[in-house]
Amino acid sequence: MQRVNGLHHITAIAGPAQENLDFYAGVLGMRLVKRSVNQDDPGTYHLFYADAAGHPGTDLTFFPWSHLAPPRLGHGMATEVSLEVAPGSLEYWGERLEKHGTALQPVEQRFGDTVLPLADPHGLKLALVDPARGVSRPFTAWDGSPVPAARQVRGLYGAQIWERDPAVTVTFLTTALGFRELANENGTARYGFDDVAGVVDVRAMAGPRGAWGVGSVHHLAWRVDDEAYQLAVRSQVEAAGGHATDVIDRFWFKSVYFKEPGGVLFEIATDGPGFAADEDAAHLGESLVLPPWLASHRAEIERALPVLTDPRPT
Ligand code: ZN
Repeated sequence: MQRVNGLHHITAIAGPAQENLDFYAGVLGMRLVKRSVNQDDPGTYHLFYADAAGHPGTDLTFFPWSHLAPPRLGHGMATEVSLEVAPGSLEYWGERLEKHGTALQPVEQRFGDTVLPLADPHGLKLALVDPARGVSRPFTAWDGSPVPAARQVRGLYGAQIWERDPAVTVTFLTTALGFRELANENGTARYGFDDVAGVVDVRAMAGPRGAWGVGSVHHLAWRVDDEAYQLAVRSQVEAAGGHATDVIDRFWFKSVYFKEPGGVLFEIATDGPGFAADEDAAHLGESLVLPPWLASHRAEIERALPVLTDPRPT
């Protein structure tokens, strides 16, 4: 079996794009590595925040769909995104976030990790994690960040998903995608890998089915080396009863989408070619990048999108 290699990116739904930029680039200090549009809804931005190099596993992306209502948190959705920070830096982050008016919760321990839970300006639940057990991850500090290199967000740590029937999801994670159980604590089971970053914490949740809205996670994307590897994992998904899309070319990576049995939208995405495929690596994210079939509509797309100015940490 081919396993996935941890998290590739996570995509969430935001409110107004400028506020999203101000928080993720201006306060969290991540680099805007791609400024594009939703390929299915080109009147909406697709904003990608990552480390300086845009490494797979560091990338948190947003669709600013501010017309949507808040989400209904419930089963069948991912409900929290966690980001890894450098060991010993949660005190720095607590002070910085408080200074910028971010809603913080008390620091807590989870699976031996020290965790600072918070909400972004549009209600997305985040957690900054000082991990007990480090796994090696590619990370390049961004010298344009307002956050010192030693304190910067290192990349995606994981996500929490809520499930009506966790056993079915867990079987799928292990048999179709190659996850293994890492730990179990207070009714939450942690699945992931020994050597690559990206865990999923599975919680049983009765009650209503969740529904997307501003401040919810849209999908979780898992890494695969290349297209051949991707097709092998796609076959495993189909063999496990999943319904996967064909391969879709996202230019910076190739993507296949499917829902895990509990309803959370997953993607498997290739590591390459990466964000420098269509932009100079030194100027990632500075101008609007469009897929080729939208290039002739650039003027009207730009007119419809809100103008973004440099991040202003509020
Ligand atoms: Zn994606």
